[in-house]
Amino acid sequence: MSATRGQAVINGADTATAVHTLQNYIGGRWVDSGAARFGEVRNPASDTLLARVPLGGAADIDHAVQAALKAYPAWRATPPVQRLRPLFKLKNLLEDRFEDIARTVTMEHGKTLDESRSSVRRAIDNVDNALAIPQLMQGTSLEDIATGIDCHTVRQPLGVFAAITPFNFPAMVPMWFLPYAVACGNAFIVKPSERVPLSQIRIFEAIHDAGFPEGVVNLVHGAKDAVDAILDHPGIAGVSFVGSSPVAHYVYKRGAEKGKRVQALGGAKNFVVVMPDADMNRAAAISTESCFGCAGERCLANSVVLAVGDAYQAIRDKLVAEAKKLRVGGGDEAGVTMGPLITKQHRERVLGYIEKGLAEGAKLILDGRAYKDAKHPEGYFVGPSIFDEVTPEMVIGREEIFGPVLCIMRAKDFDEAVEIVRRHELGNATSIFTSSGKWAREYRYRVEPSMLGVNIGVAAPMAYFPFGGAKGSFFGDLKAHGRDGVEFYTDKKVVITRWL
Ligand code: NAD
Repeated sequence: MSATRGQAVINGADTATAVHTLQNYIGGRWVDSGAARFGEVRNPASDTLLARVPLGGAADIDHAVQAALKAYPAWRATPPVQRLRPLFKLKNLLEDRFEDIARTVTMEHGKTLDESRSSVRRAIDNVDNALAIPQLMQGTSLEDIATGIDCHTVRQPLGVFAAITPFNFPAMVPMWFLPYAVACGNAFIVKPSERVPLSQIRIFEAIHDAGFPEGVVNLVHGAKDAVDAILDHPGIAGVSFVGSSPVAHYVYKRGAEKGKRVQALGGAKNFVVVMPDADMNRAAAISTESCFGCAGERCLANSVVLAVGDAYQAIRDKLVAEAKKLRVGGGDEAGVTMGPLITKQHRERVLGYIEKGLAEGAKLILDGRAYKDAKHPEGYFVGPSIFDEVTPEMVIGREEIFGPVLCIMRAKDFDEAVEIVRRHELGNATSIFTSSGKWAREYRYRVEPSMLGVNIGVAAPMAYFPFGGAKGSFFGDLKAHGRDGVEFYTDKKVVITRWL
């Protein structure tokens, strides 16, 4: 079996007979992994085998770190405005290959093409934003901190950083980090999710063509062994992680123990509070999109509609009616609005949550368990499902399901709704639907999730704002992208000067 990058896989060789083993990209070239173990990458709509992904470990990571360390001094000494040249080229190449990358996301992840396109757009937004690095990276200064003494700060890169990313946004999430780290003068390693490595291969083909110096940007495939090797490697200065909360916590702890900077974005259980004065048609339509978009595999997915007082009667049936409008199917088919789940195992897990909900006494008012796709009988589909009469104590009311399952809860008044949201251990995102500025302001003031929507279903910060949650959804201080990204990837050196 010959080793190649993604090209053959993506150009139609979507059959088991043409399966290729993916390569790492290290030191400016595509190289074989030394892995002894391999995983399978499958198209979730059809269960077709797309590629074999090496599950590398310490040797592959060390190979990438050595290449990055070698590249770092010259890259760091390259003026920021010159460091931007390959990034400008990368931006143009990503624009040229936009559709191709979006189709790769749909093929390996399952989401609809429109959803994939939006995610690729968000990836490119971060390249755009990092192009402002000569502004973003500037320091500060103050003359005469004492007589004849001046003070200024300079931002300096720190060396080699790595990103460890989840399956649900294969093209976008690595780009929350890579453009900023590299524009700041660091060298970088991406360890994508082993379930969806193909989109990053597409992006690294563009990175190669953009002409970054060898070793500045590297791609290593793997799973837990690769993550542990990143966390333990003394040549890596810091780690950006996105994934589930238990792994985020583990990465934060182990990385910090090894003296690294770590930002670790974790899982979510996002509440949408609907006040009785909300526009119910809008609230129902938007909450439905926000719950079932990307088949619920979104850290900003709306998992619970928390209806306050009379809002419950007004919105319950509308949610069901909206969810019934969804068209489930292969993400690349016209008219389809919801694709499959990522793997067979994840489908079983989501179905397991539905069983738990039933056992706990919640009422399944829309049941997607039996959904079978006529075109793709082997696909990992679950139809949109809605539970009513969910309580905060139930497993389905507490845990992240990460699938197309919406829970409806009730609160007698605003204060009780705030209390339910505050009690939850996760705090990624939340929204409130209301026509009252007072409720909106009070909600923003009192709840803890740090991405908050007012009459918006998925409050996804743009590239020039910080992205990340609170409580058990986030471990660290500086969040992803925007100015926080620049802070994370640089040290502030303070220089105090007196000339005699
Ligand atoms: P995951 O935690 O299983 O995997 C994330 C990364 O960690 C992958 O690269 C994987 O290889 C690695 N990994 C997995 N298990 C590990 C272990 N035991 N030790 C070390 N490394 C390990 O997450 P996922 O299933 O790929 O992604 C879904 C999760 O990510 C959801 O919980 C979702 O909410 C979260 N997420 C959060 C955000 C955010 O902004 N907070 C964004 C996207 C996804």
